Amino acid sequence: MAAMRIKDDLQRGSIDMDLETTEGVKTFKSFEEMGIKDNLLRGIYQYGFDKPSAIQQRAVAPIIQGRDVIAQAQSGTGKTSMIALTVCHLVDTSVREVQALIVSPTRELASQTEKVISAIGDYTNIRAHACVGGKSVGEDIRKLEHGGVHVVSGTPGRVLDMIKRRTLGTRAIKLLVLDESDEMLSRGFKDQIYDVYRYLPPDLQVVLVSATLPHDILEMTNKFMTDPVRILVKRDELTLEGIKQFFVAVEREEWKFDTLCDLYDILTITQAVIFCNTRRKVDWLTEKLRNNNFTVSSMHSDMPQRERDAIMGEFHAGTTRVLIATDVWARGIDVQQVSLVINYDLPNNRELYVHRIGRSGRFGRKGVAINFVKNDDIKILRDIEQYYSTQIIDLPSNVADLI
Ligand code: ADP
Ligand code: MG
Repeated sequence: MAAMRIKDDLQRGSIDMDLETTEGVKTFKSFEEMGIKDNLLRGIYQYGFDKPSAIQQRAVAPIIQGRDVIAQAQSGTGKTSMIALTVCHLVDTSVREVQALIVSPTRELASQTEKVISAIGDYTNIRAHACVGGKSVGEDIRKLEHGGVHVVSGTPGRVLDMIKRRTLGTRAIKLLVLDESDEMLSRGFKDQIYDVYRYLPPDLQVVLVSATLPHDILEMTNKFMTDPVRILVKRDELTLEGIKQFFVAVEREEWKFDTLCDLYDILTITQAVIFCNTRRKVDWLTEKLRNNNFTVSSMHSDMPQRERDAIMGEFHAGTTRVLIATDVWARGIDVQQVSLVINYDLPNNRELYVHRIGRSGRFGRKGVAINFVKNDDIKILRDIEQYYSTQIIDLPSNVADLI
């Protein structure tokens, strides 16, 4: 049934302008009304959440009622936090088995989610474990075999490895969540996700979450979801009002560097992330800025995990203010102090654009995104602007006032 409906919608080309999908979904204005258990409520309030965000108002209830759910909402509006809190509710802590599995595209995001679960679930005795690549396999084995872990938040490769070794028992898993689900179901990860899925019990509940859910991804959900509740966002409502978007016409690649140097003072007003499209470029730009006496740190997937962790720690603590990164940083990472994103290179697809600029403007905060555009990039920028019905305007001189 659900599959048929999705297909019909796709044929009409109406999925992402389809208000019906969110109509009929009841909204709950408080966490109490949702029927969340008391010791979890305590943790939620202690963590600083007074009331649920729009997506939480709609999606928490069906998730804790056991429904399959596809939940889309703008970046920074509480989706990953929602995963954390619903998992805390659904897990039976008296059972010493893994009952929920959350899969995320990067180690940093998987670890961040584990931390939110452990914090929000502080009064529930929940045990969460981040099962990610680049860390000791021995530690995973020790935790998973003897740690009484209820929830695993991991990256696909390591999770699959642990399942195949039978270190991560799947017998009691009742919930699979794919955060950044369009990325998890895209070319790079899809096969691994299906491999994981095959090891999970048949009556599995599946929850998909992302800010971006292109048609082709929605179309394939009928293969592993049953009559899902779908909460979707229209494309022209996906970029946040609070994130102001600008461009600087640089004409040629060589001019980007000077442009960036001119902007350095505004980079350090709070915290900033600069995106480049390749690891090499990140390294190159980092070195060049340092040679010019600017303080910057950088992160990409070629670095040892220990170094990545240290950089994340410093950036979270605010001891470093400017981070140069590849798209390893584009999705999900939550550092509230980031108010400026620079696309030194324009991203390679429309989805990444939304995710990158969404590293700023977390949970209603102000954000600024600045795109460096070469002559031949202007078409791409206009395409993004049109696709999301948004405005990307010439950088004004008073940009510092907006941060
Ligand atoms: P998303 O996954 O949609 O990008 P996150 O779950 O990462 O969003 O949340 C973004 C920020 O908003 C985080 O700092 C988180 O702690 C905060 N947040 C989430 N839900 C709430 C809430 N109900 N009340 C207050 N802050 C919230
Ligand atoms: Mg998220």
